[in-house]
Amino acid sequence: MLELQRASRGPPAAFDRFMKLSLSILFKQTFLLKTSTLVEDVDGEPMTFAKTLAAMAFVAIGFLCFSPLTEAGGQSTYDSPPPAASQIPFRYGTDRVIVVIDGSVNIRRSDLKAYVDDAAQAVIQIYGRLPVPLTIVRVEVTNGNRVGFATSTYIDESEYGLIELSLGRDTSRASLNKSWTLTHELLHLGFPIVEKSKRWLAEGIATYEEPIARVRTGMTSPEEMWADLIKNAPSGLPQSDQGLNYTRSWGRVYWGGALYCLLADIEIRKQTKNKFGLEHALRGIARSGGTAASDWNARQAIDAGDQALNLTVLQDLYTKMALNPGSIDLHQLWNQLGIKESNGDISFDDSAPLASIRKAIENGS
Ligand SMILES: [Zn+2]
Repeated sequence: MLELQRASRGPPAAFDRFMKLSLSILFKQTFLLKTSTLVEDVDGEPMTFAKTLAAMAFVAIGFLCFSPLTEAGGQSTYDSPPPAASQIPFRYGTDRVIVVIDGSVNIRRSDLKAYVDDAAQAVIQIYGRLPVPLTIVRVEVTNGNRVGFATSTYIDESEYGLIELSLGRDTSRASLNKSWTLTHELLHLGFPIVEKSKRWLAEGIATYEEPIARVRTGMTSPEEMWADLIKNAPSGLPQSDQGLNYTRSWGRVYWGGALYCLLADIEIRKQTKNKFGLEHALRGIARSGGTAASDWNARQAIDAGDQALNLTVLQDLYTKMALNPGSIDLHQLWNQLGIKESNGDISFDDSAPLASIRKAIENGS
């Protein structure tokens, strides 16, 4: 749906591929002034200057011998990097995402589109839709092959969620596929921008739900998801503090918050016979108006989440883990879920008491 429309007529496949590559190189060499550097080709191999010259010659011959590469009055049939400050729009039902690129990138438009679409589809797995009707993703172009720092906020005056994302101009499709950043930031828009002492709750939700969302869309595996949680969860345990509301340590804010979410997810699933999970409480919060567009505090959100499911799980755990240090036996927790870890390798025991809950977390219920 989001791919550029391809022409109904065109050169033979082999030549088509070479022309596509050559045009891409030509664009980079001509418009991005990269003549003194190597440019990645579509297979990820460096293009030498000699190869580029050959490509340019073939393109010239191609233009002489074949029909025009665009439909009359239509879009180009070939991927090319979007021009500086270009926009890429997406629509999901009534919700919209607009990507604004501040700068020139050597990333194919289809790769950028796939990155944004994968993140949006992942978040839809959790919220059933995008958290706010309009999200603008402003891409700030930096050097290298990496997805860097990102932030999210809500612009009240103009009524849109704003995600600012730093992206290396040579970021590969593989790096984009591995990146959880945009999914994490999109998830933030589904929850109020709460007071500082409750930031662990907002970060916990995004940290916990992001890999689940990406497992459900096939962007990562259950094994990777649980391995990451098992590796990082110890940093979320109480560290001589009086509870999650009374600490600012990185581990407690992100992984302590994620542990709160995991325990809430398990408890909701236990009490509803796996019919509902934390995601349904989050949907209830968002549906009641508790998104990044609201001025709610954390307490209002917790109440709305519990009310949506007619439970007291979020409040009970808040008392245990936010107002008190709480204690969690991680070893026992992984055993009950049927997750075994050995030297970083994960295997599953489907006869474990909470195995069905583990599967529902992975697959949704
Ligand atoms: Zn975050």
